[in-house]
Amino acid sequence: MKILVVEDERQLSEVLAALLRQHLHEVDVVFNGTDGEDYAMTGVYDAIILDIMLPRKNGIDVLCSLRQQGNATPVLLLTAKSEVGDKIKGLDNGADDYLTKPFATGELLARLRAITRRGSEFIGDELCAGNTVLDKNTHEIGGEKGRVKLSAKEYQIMDMLLANSRQIIPKERFVEKIWGFDSEAEYNSIEVYISFVRKKLVAIGSNLQIKAVRNVGYSLEVSEC
Ligand code: CA
Repeated sequence: MKILVVEDERQLSEVLAALLRQHLHEVDVVFNGTDGEDYAMTGVYDAIILDIMLPRKNGIDVLCSLRQQGNATPVLLLTAKSEVGDKIKGLDNGADDYLTKPFATGELLARLRAITRRGSEFIGDELCAGNTVLDKNTHEIGGEKGRVKLSAKEYQIMDMLLANSRQIIPKERFVEKIWGFDSEAEYNSIEVYISFVRKKLVAIGSNLQIKAVRNVGYSLEVSEC
C-alpha cells in the first residue's frame, strides 16, 4: 500500500515511516497540515495517518476539508491522551479510526489493515477475482495450477489492478504509486513489470488477463473461457 504520514514530531514520523517500509509499504511523510492536505488530495494513497496537533492546519481541519472535497481515502487519526474531544470530532468528521499516543506498532498495523479493507471482494487478508487469489500477507498469488510469490513491485501492480478491477488504471497512476512522484522510472518499466505479472498469471492457471489500453493504461479482466 501507499501511505501518507502527516506528523510534525520528527522522531515519531521517522519511526512510523521505517515501520511501514519494513512491512513493504510505500511511505511519504509530511510535517504540517497544509502539505498533508495537498499530498492527500492527489488521491494516490491507500491510507493516511494523520496527527491532530499540526502546524499550519490541524488534523481535524485537514480531514474536514478532504471529505468536503470528496476525498474518501481511509484516515487513521493520531491523538494525544488529552485530546478526547478532538477524537470524537474526528470520527464525526469522517475519520475511519483513531489511535492514542503512545501506541504499540502491532496495533497501528492492525488498524491500518482494518481501515483499508475494501468492499465485498476482500475476504480476510485476500483479494479475489475470477479463479485467482492474492494473499496480502505472503504476497503470493494463487490460481488453478498453483501459487507463486510476487516481488514487491509485482505485488503492488496486482493489488492496484484487483482493487480496481474492470477499470482502466492510467500508467501514470502506477508510476506515481509504485515509484513515487520524484521517480525517474520510465513508463516502459511499468510495461516490463506488467509482463512479469502476466507470465505469473499464466503459470498459475489464472483466468485473469491484464489488458493494455493503448496510450492509456491497463485493466484487469476475467476471461470467459
Ligand atoms: Ca503533533
